[in-house]
Amino acid sequence: MTEQPTEISATATAEGAEAPKKLFIKTYGCQMNVYDSERMAEALGAKGYVTTEVAEEADMVLLNTCHIREKAAEKVYSDLGRLRPLKQAKPDLKIGVAGCVAQAEGEEILKRMPLVDLVVGPQSYHRLPEMVEAKGKVVDTDFPEEDKFDHLPQRKALRGPTAFLTVQEGCDKFCAFCVVPYTRGAEVSRPAARLLAEARDLVSRGVREITLLGQNVNGYHGAGEGGTWGLGRLLREMAAIDGLDRLRYTTSHPNDMDDDLIAAHAEVPQLMPYLHLPVQSGSDRILKAMNRKHTAEQYLRLIERIRAARPDILLSSDFIVGFPGETDTDFEATMDLIRAVGFGAAFSFKYSARPGTPAAEKPELPAEVSDARLQALQALITEQQRAAQMAMVGREVGVLYEKPGRLPGQMVGKSDHLHAVHVTDSLGKPGQLVRVRITGSAPNSLAGEPLRD
Ligand code: SF4
Repeated sequence: MTEQPTEISATATAEGAEAPKKLFIKTYGCQMNVYDSERMAEALGAKGYVTTEVAEEADMVLLNTCHIREKAAEKVYSDLGRLRPLKQAKPDLKIGVAGCVAQAEGEEILKRMPLVDLVVGPQSYHRLPEMVEAKGKVVDTDFPEEDKFDHLPQRKALRGPTAFLTVQEGCDKFCAFCVVPYTRGAEVSRPAARLLAEARDLVSRGVREITLLGQNVNGYHGAGEGGTWGLGRLLREMAAIDGLDRLRYTTSHPNDMDDDLIAAHAEVPQLMPYLHLPVQSGSDRILKAMNRKHTAEQYLRLIERIRAARPDILLSSDFIVGFPGETDTDFEATMDLIRAVGFGAAFSFKYSARPGTPAAEKPELPAEVSDARLQALQALITEQQRAAQMAMVGREVGVLYEKPGRLPGQMVGKSDHLHAVHVTDSLGKPGQLVRVRITGSAPNSLAGEPLRD
């Protein structure tokens, strides 16, 4: 999961609202949180809130938090501390904490930060409209019986031609370092018919690319026509939606890459040639300690099968270095695995304990050891990432334009392989899917020219 603090910048309007109130949302963490923030903005839109990018002009500030990274809760408390002058200047300002830190900390947030008015967990944010109207402080960290998605308003296409769609939530894997099974609960898959309806609706609003989201997305097992559908079936049915040009999904567990899903990579042209498949370590000893339930060899064989289905697929992964007990030999095994696979991108982190997880009981490695390993691993990944980008130069790729670039006559979009591409195209408009020849590679993006008749 990536850590990308973002602020919602689109507008959610209320029908018949007297005067719009302003909502500022800060989103921490993964793409699922970005999606949740959009849905929270839509839910609060029904109560007259429109979003703003300026915290100072907001009537409500909502921090949609993530617990996956180091000192996550402390970062949230320090952000809340920074809101104190704002609350003093505007006593009616509502301050809310949502997401996984809200789930994990609950009432503790109100005790430590009395300026907070509401605390809402990831499974109950559909109740936000009632919560903002409540007198006094509210904490809701339930795992309610009702499905929150049934209680949220219709989607708005907030991110131009691309959209996220949560198909699955929660995780039953219990990796030893991870809080997700505790904060998001058990795996739940949304029914296929609802997802297809939501996807059709997004496409009717101009969306051309949908990324299916789940904490363990390839563990999807939703009720569908004729029985339970896996992710492969869901992707095939989504691909049949007229006007939906691209599909992606994230985040996956290696053990849930079944035959049908792998075959979908060969058979579904809309499924883009990019796969984020976290492995975390290349050492079997550490994989066992992490409770990942697969070996390095099994991961490598899986990659062979995926590449046999889709030879040009670009792979990305997550790595944790310095897990308790990791030796130099274990770390070298991780480096060997990276060399063997050749990744186009990766997210890598130094291990840090999450309270309440089994790994938190174990002694941590000295910081300097983990720092040095992280540096070495990131250098190798950067080398592979640059090589993957350079291999694109001279090739023709599809680019879905998302927005104008900084330079006049420039458009920015994503390639099939999820590279950011800056295209010199004065005729370009957001939402166009254009064939582009890649002409150059910068550290984190590509440059290209459109191929127009
Ligand atoms: S698969 Fe492991 S790392 Fe991923 S969400 Fe589940 S418990 Fe966390």
